[in-house]
Amino acid sequence: MDLGLQNKTVLVAAASKGLGFGIAKALAQNGAKVSICSRSEDDINAAAKTLADDYGVETLATACDLTKKEDIDNWVQRTVDKWGTIDGLLVNAGGPPAAIFKEISEAQWQSAFELTLMSSIRMINATIPHMTNGGGILTITSSSVREPIPRLALSTVMRSGVVGLVKTLANELADDGIRVNNLIPGRIDTDRVAQLDQNTANKLGITPEEARKRSLAKIPLNRLGTIDDFGSAGAFLLSPAASYITGASLQVDGGS
Ligand code: NAP
Repeated sequence: MDLGLQNKTVLVAAASKGLGFGIAKALAQNGAKVSICSRSEDDINAAAKTLADDYGVETLATACDLTKKEDIDNWVQRTVDKWGTIDGLLVNAGGPPAAIFKEISEAQWQSAFELTLMSSIRMINATIPHMTNGGGILTITSSSVREPIPRLALSTVMRSGVVGLVKTLANELADDGIRVNNLIPGRIDTDRVAQLDQNTANKLGITPEEARKRSLAKIPLNRLGTIDDFGSAGAFLLSPAASYITGASLQVDGGS
């Protein structure tokens, strides 16, 4: 199937590695030009070079801290300066720290708000004036929006706000030809998941391998997802091939 992504221009946030990189890779494989960002200039330049070398597409790398409005505005403007219009946006950022409600300070709530919810609002606000031909916006949340995950209160609360934003914008932006969807990762094999396994292991006094084994027992497909599993679903939802899908949340979770 042709996804219709050839020469489309797509912003992909938090994409030096992990889920963002997986989606940028799938988009580049399908001929899209990708503008990727993350905080580390070296890492994001290296990721952009890999995509350009492997798939022969134009890429743009920008160092950007997604908790800062001015960084987001600069990333989007650099992309518009280079390519004119924008056809797609993948909304993503690092995850907030793990903790239970009673341990979380007011400052941590505020930081999680800036990192997860406010960054999503800012990315979308900065991008939609340049989506003059319509296109797709896709957020990444978590299975915690379906059922809370222990010790991930900050993530669960902010990501539920992101899902509300997606549903609202699917209605409000439909007349502009902009589709807005949400992708729900279960457990995709990235550094973030390895860190969460380490946290669980420390908490329970078990090894990270045992923590991972316990989480695998809850996944019918009996393996962690790969960033390629995740990337192909993301590229589809961002593409013209998903032209009649908006306001949807798709789980990529091996059946868990
Ligand atoms: P990851 O492998 O740790 O990658 C995180 C990426 O985000 C890196 O490219 C990092 O690059 C970038 N980043 C982090 N903070 C940033 C910031 N403030 N500004 C700009 N870029 C930032 O994590 P992941 O597994 O891909 O997770 C991505 C998101 O999905 C996270 O919010 C995570 O909580 C969520 N999630 C993941 C899973 C899963 O199964 N992997 C499940 C549920 C939810 P720099 O360090 O260079 O900034």
